[in-house]
Amino acid sequence: MPAEPGSPRVIVVGGGWSGIAAAWNLHRAGARPLLLDEQPVLGGRSAAAPLGSRSVTLGGKNIGRKYASFRAFAAAMGARDADWEHFGINSSRIENGRVRTVDSTSRAASLAGLLSGVPLRDLARILRLARYVRSDRANAFLAGPEFERLAARTGDPALSAYFGPVLQERLLRPAVVRMNGAEPDETHLGTFGTNLGMLLDSFDQLTGGFDGILGRFADTVETRTRTRVTALAVEDGRVTGVRTATGGEPPELAADAVVLALPAPAAAALLHPHHRQLARLLGRVRYFPVTVVVAAYDRPVFDERVRALTFPPGSPLSNAGAYGVGDRHLVRYTFSGRAARALPHDEDGLTDRAEKELGAHVDLSAPRRTAAVSARWEHGLCAYSAFHATTLTAVAELAKDLRGLALTGDYVRGASVEACFRGAYACTDDLVRTLMPLPRPPA
Ligand SMILES: Cc1cc2nc3c(=O)[nH]c(=O)nc-3n(C[C@H](O)[C@H](O)[C@H](O)COP(=O)(O)OP(=O)(O)OC[C@H]3O[C@@H](n4cnc5c(N)ncnc54)[C@H](O)[C@@H]3O)c2cc1C
Repeated sequence: MPAEPGSPRVIVVGGGWSGIAAAWNLHRAGARPLLLDEQPVLGGRSAAAPLGSRSVTLGGKNIGRKYASFRAFAAAMGARDADWEHFGINSSRIENGRVRTVDSTSRAASLAGLLSGVPLRDLARILRLARYVRSDRANAFLAGPEFERLAARTGDPALSAYFGPVLQERLLRPAVVRMNGAEPDETHLGTFGTNLGMLLDSFDQLTGGFDGILGRFADTVETRTRTRVTALAVEDGRVTGVRTATGGEPPELAADAVVLALPAPAAAALLHPHHRQLARLLGRVRYFPVTVVVAAYDRPVFDERVRALTFPPGSPLSNAGAYGVGDRHLVRYTFSGRAARALPHDEDGLTDRAEKELGAHVDLSAPRRTAAVSARWEHGLCAYSAFHATTLTAVAELAKDLRGLALTGDYVRGASVEACFRGAYACTDDLVRTLMPLPRPPA
């Protein structure tokens, strides 16, 4: 629906999926969103990076079959069914010197291998949690009803305190190190539904990456890149716009409302001068760094059966995997988890180190590396907080003190791309209700 003259102007700060979803939803509702991002390109942690003659996504790129909101958005931005390629689930671990593979094409055998030797108590627990997610999709997102109840009932223990070591090593650690950058002793039971939601999904990726849909989005909704927001403008308890640090632009942009679609620490920094308590609460949400290197080789590194390997706790390399089913000559090395946090961002050093570790299990003597590209995000992966649903309720309550403010981001419904869409849609639906109340029916 095109915006009517006089329809509300809403500034959305942050051009990752949360901000894109927020701006898209506002545009659909007839508001006039303006999206600002400090980077030269849109996409945030899913932005494209050049690798030789092509572009790759260093951050989030795998899209679940159950990502209904994201897929509907991609279709509205022109993505066709033929543009998706299957990514599946394929991951191997080394156990007693043997490579053990989990693959979505042989689910039963993979599951049997994964769960053999897991104590009955843990089996019963994990199956019960999986049932929550399967029976109500809301449980695959933060503040899902069953997980909120479970956290309240159990005191929201760390996963390492709730499950024994076998399940932790086989399933939980690879999942939380990859999705949250955290170890099992740093992730809580009450947020584990977000991990299970992803583990129980099956993944695809857009063959040409996100460039097409991001381009179409920027043609549809007003966006400004290279525009850093340095402060919120607040008058009498109402957010009236933002200040930017962009040469040539008027430094202050006025708006009827402002959506902060940022990782919690970035939102906290902007809110701190106006609402310390809210900023402090947002500061409690934990994030961990992650570094990703994508390296190109002159021939395939992985075979069709083993396309990714996970590494044990002592290694800063958490995962090495083929970029796509048809891109087995591109390897994506992910450094996350405790052992990776202090590593400097040295692309060559990290790639050499990763190749040494991978080379112990995969024959790397013939492939020659031809190019590499990398990124490190300090606030890369969100690991939420203890009793996170309670944190979110308190954040929402305190945010009401600043009228015209809306908050979204990966800490609101979860870190998956779909969760970013869900969080952003919910927050902007609320905003639209306050900014554009429905006309009263005639008496
Ligand atoms: C390595 C990695 C792999 C992942 N893999 C997957 C996956 O396969 N599937 C999946 O579903 N999810 C995945 N994720 C998670 C998912 O990609 C992220 O949760 C999601 O992209 C976060 O989007 P966001 O918009 O909330 O935040 P961001 O993408 O971080 O966007 C925030 C934006 O705000 C901008 N910004 C910050 N401060 C300011 C300011 N003051 N002024 C202006 N702009 C500002 C930043 O430049 C940034 O573009 C992955 C994440 C990472 C890091």
